[in-house]
Amino acid sequence: MENIEKGKLISSGKAKSLYESSNPDYYFMHYRDDTSAFDGVKKESLEGKGSTNNKFNAFIMDFLEQKGVPTHFEKLISETESLVKKLEMIPVECVVRNIAAGSICKRLGVEEGIDLNPPTFEFFYKDDELHDPMINEFHIKSFGWASEEQVKQMQEKTFQVNDLLKELFAEAGMILVDYKLEFGSFNGDLLLGDEFTPDGCRVWDSETREKLDKDRFRQDLGDVVESYQIIAKKLGIE
Ligand code: ADP
Ligand code: UDP
Repeated sequence: MENIEKGKLISSGKAKSLYESSNPDYYFMHYRDDTSAFDGVKKESLEGKGSTNNKFNAFIMDFLEQKGVPTHFEKLISETESLVKKLEMIPVECVVRNIAAGSICKRLGVEEGIDLNPPTFEFFYKDDELHDPMINEFHIKSFGWASEEQVKQMQEKTFQVNDLLKELFAEAGMILVDYKLEFGSFNGDLLLGDEFTPDGCRVWDSETREKLDKDRFRQDLGDVVESYQIIAKKLGIE
């Protein structure tokens, strides 16, 4: 691949910034230390989170790519930056849950920690002002956010990722409780976009069930970045 230069800032989200690049098909994705929860109400800068998540995401995206899940990830550029394919994002979050935690507990009045067998799937509409409301596949098709084929593929790929990552985490002594994925299209192909990091999933220690993910930030449990690094170390990410 040719040498790609970083261009102008395109957008700055709650945790990452996207930059144009000298190749129109690619973006520079910058993982910042900024951390937010509860629709941006709770905010903090956590030193080292950007570089930890950048490397974490690279490892997971590489793993998924090798296992046949096409992603936007191209390569690591620096400690806190990656090169990704420029996607036309579908404004939908795909969530798979193996164990009940977070919003499903409030919504359905169930206790945290209950096994969900089979794992459950939820779509959310990505809109901070509306607090990312839960939607179903009919909303996605009626409002034209994605086609029927894309909806089917998002579900299939999100479950495929579950089979792959549940095992990866289990072999490393951890439970993958739930996670969120985002997809986008690139020249007509549906690719996994955004990130897979402890900011967007829940991971518990298999023995102690200690929380090692962003719930440490949401629930003021401390050692947020340190816990992300514990997950990384267990997975063999240096
Ligand atoms: P948020 O938008 O939730 O505040 P981030 O700070 O993580 O989140 O911002 C990243 C933004 O970039 C998100 O809106 C995400 O949908 C978008 N995005 C992720 N991957 C790509 C990609 N490959 N091409 C274009 N946009 C992307
Ligand atoms: N999630 C995310 N971004 C969001 C909403 C959820 O990455 O905007 C992740 C979250 O970290 C968890 C999973 O998706 O791993 C399910 O989140 P949930 O619906 O329980 O919402 P929460 O209570 O965590 O806000």
